[in-house]
Amino acid sequence: MTTAVKNQILAPVQEFINKPKRLLIDGDWIEPVEQGGFTTIDPATGNVICEVPHGTHHDIDRAVAAARRAFDHGPWSRMRPNQREKLLWRVGDLIEAKADVFAQLESIDNGKPASIARRSDVARTADLFRYYAGWATKLEGSTVDVSMPRVTEGEFHAFTLREAIGVCGQIIPWNFPLLMAAFKLAPALAAGNTVVLKPAEQTPLTALLLGEVFCEAGMPPGVVNIVTGFGDAGAALAAHDHVDKVAFTGSTEVGKKIVDAARGNLKKVSLELGGKSPNIVFADADFETAVEGSVNAWLSNQGQACVAGTRLYVEDAIFEEFMRAVAERVSKVKIAPGLDPASEMGPLVSQEQLDRVTGYLEQGLADGARALTGGRRRGEQGYFLEPTVLVDVRPDFSVVREEIFGPVVVAMPFSAADGIDAIADVANDTDYGLAAGVWTRNISTAHRLARRIKAGSIWVNQYNASDFALPFGGYKQSGWGRELGTDGIHLYTQVKAVNIAL
Ligand code: NAP
Ligand code: MG
Repeated sequence: MTTAVKNQILAPVQEFINKPKRLLIDGDWIEPVEQGGFTTIDPATGNVICEVPHGTHHDIDRAVAAARRAFDHGPWSRMRPNQREKLLWRVGDLIEAKADVFAQLESIDNGKPASIARRSDVARTADLFRYYAGWATKLEGSTVDVSMPRVTEGEFHAFTLREAIGVCGQIIPWNFPLLMAAFKLAPALAAGNTVVLKPAEQTPLTALLLGEVFCEAGMPPGVVNIVTGFGDAGAALAAHDHVDKVAFTGSTEVGKKIVDAARGNLKKVSLELGGKSPNIVFADADFETAVEGSVNAWLSNQGQACVAGTRLYVEDAIFEEFMRAVAERVSKVKIAPGLDPASEMGPLVSQEQLDRVTGYLEQGLADGARALTGGRRRGEQGYFLEPTVLVDVRPDFSVVREEIFGPVVVAMPFSAADGIDAIADVANDTDYGLAAGVWTRNISTAHRLARRIKAGSIWVNQYNASDFALPFGGYKQSGWGRELGTDGIHLYTQVKAVNIAL
């Protein structure tokens, strides 16, 4: 790390980095069973930030046992809903109070600009805990007027109870480390579940800081357990017989492994997986807004977003002009280490991810694609890559079909004369179905495409603005289940029917 950047690090961030890290199990910070750690890297420099504990299946066993006790015998599931509500609200407040610390730590560990982490990832995380805090007191069953078979005469009182599922294993990726932890933890806890969280190996730090926040907020022991480690720890969690539900966000490839691992005890499974989302710009759209919004659609978070609008379809009448404007816009993006206050785009998360993305670029160019801008690594130090706009692509190219997870967009013209169904067919020509964007002033076009596109989120004349009250998840191979909103609570509860002969 250069001295200039080091000087910007806040004292509490440096303190957190310097102190030894442990696993959070049963309310205590403890060493892993097989002593040892692994390093986490600053992607802006490639330098080691610090060591974190290397948790293995032994630690998953201990964490699951603690979560089991806390659920089966502990106070959490039996606590009054408003006590859970207060505690989750306090978590949100504490995150907000430490927002600068969380933002810098996220930036150092993941690479994203700290200023963006501060106003987006961290602010949204605090809000998400408060959103689900409110749900703790709003869980309801219903009474049902039954028409039972005539074998039993008499009156009945039938109703449903909405109950927590139990011990939840939660496995999260590195692209939004803190926010993804909140997507998983907040609804699970609001509903009265207990949790074992496995953060991504590349970005374990904010999850550990979040663990401290839970302790400070007064979370009872065993309710939230955090085990840092690699894929094998995630696999042990997904397969564990004493885990009642596994929730996973990450690649579709690992998502399928989670499904296999869950077979043993048929635990509930929810999956939020990859995407290759279409973003469709009509000639009647507001030009400037559509340029800005389309860039945000694929470049946000260095392009490392499951919802990224990476297949850009632009109506032929404006294709050339629109793509020139997009290329010009992205060539002005300020690429710099995340701690630089002027940074709009940081490095990719790891050398592995940089290699993966540049591999796709090489393949795309070899297939015949042309880069309007970008395509090169920036600097010798860190994992910086220029935003890259590819044109002259065909639908069978790997850069068009596969999730690249980096700052790369493929752009293709379409003809509005082909009709809405044909445009929807092109948009739907993918194994994924996470999100889609439509830019038009024609309300009929917008609504008709919104119905025809097979994706969990459709954004019209904006991209990426989602709300915690709206469900989020994927069609097709983009996942199972919906997080956020009412659906997010349903993902962490199950319904029991009680039928009483009076
Ligand atoms: P990944 O392997 O799917 O990792 C996601 C999480 O699953 C991490 O915590 C990972 O641990 C864990 N994991 C890995 N193997 C596991 C297994 N067999 N059982 C249970 N958990 C396991 O994703 P990645 O390797 O970090 O990234 C690869 C590609 O996935 C990216 O290039 C991108 O295309 C896609 N991706 C998508 C999303 C999304 O939000 N949809 C997020 C991240 C990545 P480790 O960290 O130790 O591997
Ligand atoms: Mg991995």
